[in-house]
Amino acid sequence: MIHMPTDVDVLIIGAGPAGASAAALLQQEGFRLLVVEKQTFPRFVIGESLLPHCMDLLQEAGLLESVAGQQFMQKNGAVFHRGGATCDFDFSAQFTAGWKYTWQVPRADFDKTLADAVAARGVEFCYGHGVTAIQLADSRATVTIEQPDGTRSSVAAKFILDCSGYGRVLPRLLNLEVPSQFPQREALFAHVTGDHRPTGREEGKIWACTHPGGAWIWIIPFSNGRTSVGAVAEPGFFAGYPADPEKCLRAILASDPSAGPRLAGMQIVFGPERISGYSCAVKQLFGPHYALVGNATEFLDPIFSSGVTLALASANRAAKVLTRQLRGEAVNWQTEYADHVMQGINTFRAYVSAWYDGTLHEILFSAGANPDIMRQICSVLAGYVWDLSNPYVAQPERALPLLSRIVQARSRSATS
Ligand SMILES: Cc1cc2nc3c(=O)[nH]c(=O)nc-3n(C[C@H](O)[C@H](O)[C@H](O)COP(=O)(O)OP(=O)(O)OC[C@H]3O[C@@H](n4cnc5c(N)ncnc54)[C@H](O)[C@@H]3O)c2cc1C
Repeated sequence: MIHMPTDVDVLIIGAGPAGASAAALLQQEGFRLLVVEKQTFPRFVIGESLLPHCMDLLQEAGLLESVAGQQFMQKNGAVFHRGGATCDFDFSAQFTAGWKYTWQVPRADFDKTLADAVAARGVEFCYGHGVTAIQLADSRATVTIEQPDGTRSSVAAKFILDCSGYGRVLPRLLNLEVPSQFPQREALFAHVTGDHRPTGREEGKIWACTHPGGAWIWIIPFSNGRTSVGAVAEPGFFAGYPADPEKCLRAILASDPSAGPRLAGMQIVFGPERISGYSCAVKQLFGPHYALVGNATEFLDPIFSSGVTLALASANRAAKVLTRQLRGEAVNWQTEYADHVMQGINTFRAYVSAWYDGTLHEILFSAGANPDIMRQICSVLAGYVWDLSNPYVAQPERALPLLSRIVQARSRSATS
């Protein structure tokens, strides 16, 4: 029997990485919390490759040890493939003094590990309960919660953190949605066995393979013997393949020169699943008595595995600003929260744009790239997108096209 309070300091919508880590940080400060989660855990969600900066954020929330206990696959870097060429990033060679590895995580296990660790500290989680409405008043917010049997109740809170991910509860209820600047893309993905993996230090690295037909493919190996594989493209690309999802995924993978041989013996053990139109944005990240956190803010694209890092980083910042506010201090949500979160999102946005317009491919697959610059780019791929001493964090819109022109000129002069 769930004990549902009628009044709390902070109500958190969603128990994914954003919700669980925000709850962990606020619990350390002694606030009265309630986490309302629509599904029951463990539940599947896509987004399985972490970035090293996640380790700092999990550690600060007191959650790193619980995750380490799960023996997830160690991820030491990322390897980009295109037509037989490779660009291998190892997180041990990066500009920012940060973590040199992270993990590849089946999210059902990872998210349950985080939520259970927070619940064990006394935070109340209401699973199977969905937030359906919100009322904002001068002194507080009141949310309507639908219980598993369909009955509804209300909980009042001084503040709401919307960590509802793809549910996008407050963006929808408060009309905050704006279209993403990226075109609609979709992902077709599955979990497989029979992945012919590299060995040693290379085993756990993510592969991102540029498919000759205009898609890209991810390969994310787990420690449980399964591997997550997926293809991402605009919808027109998939129209050229069989309508049956399994035949479609198999045909795409088989026709890629790097993924094909590695996955030739695969058996599908989960999926294929399809998700589309996931890129989204909002007008604002906060308002009176609420803030949006994690995927409820803006989601760009899966290419650089930035989603969980941004979820943990925004939860970390929101919890800190909120702690000061609840203690009676004056805070500025725009400068202290929204601007900080958008710094990280905007740096990744520049890399996502440069990936799809080809600028980044020129850099990654050129022989002439300067190793010091590649270390700076490696730190972005490791999630250190708030390190403004890194020129490839601070000014990527200028730095990436410039670098692309330099490496192209170098390769032209090397071949002439
Ligand atoms: C194809 C694809 C691949 C991706 N790959 C990666 C990757 O490799 N690495 C990475 O870091 N990110 C990846 N992502 C992004 C990643 O999925 C998200 O960024 C991440 O899950 C965000 O975490 P979150 O805590 O904000 O939300 P979520 O993990 O989505 O959690 C939100 C929770 O809120 C709950 N909820 C929803 N509505 C309600 C409601 N009304 N009431 C109560 N609860 C509710 C949901 O049930 C859910 O449990 C990928 C995304 C896509 C689309």
